Parts: sequence; C-alpha cells; structure tokens
Amino acid sequence: MIDENRKRILVTGGAGFLGSHLCARLIAHGHDVLCVDNFYTGSKANIAHLLDKPRFELMRHDVTFPLYVEVDEIYNLACPASPVHYQHDPVQTTKTSVHGAINMLGLAKRVKAKILQASTSEVYGDPQVHPQPESYWGHVNPIGIRSCYDEGKRCAETLFFDYFRQHQLRIKVARIFNTYGPRMHPNDGRVVSNFIVQALRGDSLTVYGEGQQTRSFCYVSDLVDGLIRLMNSGDDFTGPVNLGNPGEFTILELAHKVIEVTRSTSVINYLPLPSDDPTQRQPIIELARQKLGWEPTVNLEQGLRYTVDYFRNLLERE
Ligand code: NAD
Ligand code: UDP
Ligand code: UDP
Repeated sequence: MIDENRKRILVTGGAGFLGSHLCARLIAHGHDVLCVDNFYTGSKANIAHLLDKPRFELMRHDVTFPLYVEVDEIYNLACPASPVHYQHDPVQTTKTSVHGAINMLGLAKRVKAKILQASTSEVYGDPQVHPQPESYWGHVNPIGIRSCYDEGKRCAETLFFDYFRQHQLRIKVARIFNTYGPRMHPNDGRVVSNFIVQALRGDSLTVYGEGQQTRSFCYVSDLVDGLIRLMNSGDDFTGPVNLGNPGEFTILELAHKVIEVTRSTSVINYLPLPSDDPTQRQPIIELARQKLGWEPTVNLEQGLRYTVDYFRNLLERE
C-alpha cells in the first residue's frame, strides 16, 4: 500500500549539528531520509544512531557538485556555521552557499520538490534595527572576514527567490538565529559549546571583548520543530521567516549562567573582540507565530542543562 504521507526527503548537511536532529525527527515521523554530507564539519558519530534504520540513507557528497536523486522535499542545510570553521576556507564557504544553492534549486526544479533554505540571522549583519523583523534589509560588510558566510547566505536567499519567481518553485526560507544543544562539536568555536566545555574542564571562559554584545539562543528541538512546520506550511508562504528564541542575553550573562549550571569554579578570561562581531541580535518572531503557530518552548537555563548533560557524558568518555 502506498502511504501518501510518507515522503522521500533530502537533508543536505544532515551529518551536522542541526541536520542530525532534523534527520532523526523526520525518520520518527515515518519519512525516508537521504542525508547528504561531505563531513567538513559534520561527522558519522552524529548520525551513528540512524545508520541501521531502514528509512535512513547516507551519501558522502559535496553540494557544490551536481546531485541527481529523486526526492519530494529538500532541506538545504549544508554549510559550516561556526565562524572558526566558515573562516577557515572562506572561498569554499561562499561556494557551498552559492553553488550549493544553485545545484539544490536545479534539483528541486527537475523533480518538482519543495525546498527549504537554512538561512541565518547573519543576513542582518551588525543590525542597526533592534530587534530584527524580516523586513529589515540588514547592515552587512561585503568585504570582511564574516562576509563569505553572510554574503553567501544572502546570495542563496536571492537565488531562492529568483527560482521562485522565474521557475515557480515551492520555496521556504528560514532565518535561523543562534541555536545550541547536544551534538554541537566540542571544538567548533561557537560560544555555547566553548563555554560549556571550558566550564566542565575548569578552564577559564573566553569572553571576547567586554562581553556586552548580545545574542538570542534557541534550543535545538524548538528549532527543528520550526523548520518542519515551515516545510509543511502552505505553498503561498515562502518566508523569509525568523526562527529563534527572543530571549536576549549578553555574552557575559551567558558565561555566568554556564558557570552556574555547571557549578564550575572557572573564571572569565577577556580576549579581543573579532572584527565585525555583531553587537546585538534578537529575533521578532510574530510571523512564525502567525503563519506556523510556532514559538520556542525551552528556555535558556533548561536548554543549557540538557546541553551540559550531553557534554559531561562526552568529556567523561574522552
Ligand atoms: P554544522 O557545521 O554542524 O553542520 C553543517 C553540515 O554541512 C556539516 O555536517 C558539514 O559537514 C556539511 N557541509 C558543509 N559544507 C558542505 C558541502 N559543501 N557539501 C555537503 N555538506 C557540507 O552547522 P549547523 O549548526 O548544523 O548548521 C546547519 C545549517 O544551519 C547551516 O546552513 C547554517 O548556516 C544554518 N544555521 C545554523 C545556525 C546555528 O546557530 N546552529 C544559525 C543560523 C543558520
Ligand atoms: N542540477 C543538479 N541536479 C539536478 C538538476 C540540476 O545538481 O537534478 C544542477 C545542475 O548542475 C545545474 C544546476 O543544478 O547546473 C542548476 O540547474 P538549472 O536547471 O536551474 O539550470 P541549468 O541546468 O540551465 O544550468
Ligand atoms: N564568543 C565569545 N567567546 C567564545 C566564542 C564566542 O565571547 O569563546 C562571542 C562572539 O564574539 C560572539 C558571540 O559570542 O559575540 C557568539 O559567537 P558565536 O561564534 O557562537 O556565533 P555568532 O553569533 O557570532 O555567529
């Protein structure tokens, strides 16, 4: 019997932090998942628990090269997300966003698949409008060290909307704000994983600048729920839509919270602020509330507890 609700879903970047959670959730919903990843920042360990599931398939592939498969939906997540990683090979980062988007859009066009882009709050750059609504065009340096990521993601959004207008593709664009949780890479350089690993090891927490810059942190299960709701929304809704937790914290506040949750004796070590580091970031999520009936349910303290448990286990096994 053909199950009409069972879809063949491609997740690019599926062996990464967000992708691995998304693959697991889609399989739990009864879909067939094809995970495509070149393991640049992702790992087999992230998806090890899925490898023996008959509905899961893994393909090592770089999205900057064409891909010919037959699927009903595409979640395009392939792209390093941590500043340390995306700045390591900036030309490859832009290629992944831009050539990767062209290839996945070409694929979606050929097989008439619905396609979702994992865009980012970085499209707002160092925002001069605060908090950020989707209507804000952003304040982005086109030639700085973050530009490979920011401009690559902006160009990918442009491509999505041009394929929508020119080829009538069914597109969805999610602007994801800082998301954290289990399976972040312990050395990936992002603030939540850095602070937790430092606190658990008793090392000092590396706060860049004076720690007065702000971020809004979303727990991974909430984010995955938002992505799936967006994919399942009506064809008339393209986004872009902000997905993030509106709770805003300074980096110094985050450091103190991590010390509190881990009961660590670590102290704070102030290091220079990297260039173009955005001073503030907070999503307005009214659109997601209205169109997707979505809002985060896990607050920072609870999410940090789950994440600390994960890293505690991981470090104990080292
Ligand atoms: P991640 O680095 O853990 O995952 C990215 C995955 O993409 C990795 O598995 C990596 O190996 C893979 N990849 C990179 N280049 C590729 C290529 N050329 N071909 C195939 N696979 C490739 O990062 P993440 O946090 O899981 O982010 C996933 C997506 O969500 C990214 O597109 C990122 O820009 C976006 N995003 C994440 C956040 C966040 O806070 N986590 C915020 C905004 C946007
Ligand atoms: N593409 C792909 N898989 C497909 C179809 C297309 O990877 O199933 C790639 C192909 O390499 C192409 C790109 O997507 O360069 C854009 O495809 P499109 O059909 O939009 O443009 P064209 O083929 O005319 O360049
Ligand atoms: N940050 C920090 N210490 C760290 C890592 C990051 O103070 O060890 C700061 C960084 O300068 C930025 C914020 O934390 O202001 C978030 O950094 P992250 O790399 O997680 O993501 P971003 O939002 O900058 O892409």
